[in-house]
Amino acid sequence: MDKSEELRKPVLALIAHDQKKDDLVMFVSRHIAHFSNCQLFTTGTTGSRILAEHKNLDLMPLKSGPLGGDQQIGGLIAEGKIDGLIFFVDPLTPMPHDVDVKALMRLAIVYDIPMALNRSTAEILLTNFAEQADGELNA
Ligand code: PGA
Repeated sequence: MDKSEELRKPVLALIAHDQKKDDLVMFVSRHIAHFSNCQLFTTGTTGSRILAEHKNLDLMPLKSGPLGGDQQIGGLIAEGKIDGLIFFVDPLTPMPHDVDVKALMRLAIVYDIPMALNRSTAEILLTNFAEQADGELNA
């Protein structure tokens, strides 16, 4: 791995179901210094909500989840383009695109991508990426 590859920004995918979007926007706000150093892909509505608060993030919203956004993110994972997935799942509401959500999680498992499905795991995932970045800077 050459130096430019070692120091490239982590690429994270962010998704939140409707009842969890406020939580994810708050999570991004709380960790804005970290997310400012990441390249971000999101589903459509999740991305719009985050960009409304943080216009300067390097963030690419894809299609809305129910219209294929989860599958697009799964495709990026299959292509090796995503380093980590933060997906604030709502376990209490039935989803029309439940099969897409399951397919996305399946690909994250197949390709062994760190996947956080709730806030406390997302905290751990971010801490881990931050430690890796510090280690690379000090190497
Ligand atoms: P959304 O999609 O960000 O477009 O709402 C998320 C989802 O429900 O998968």
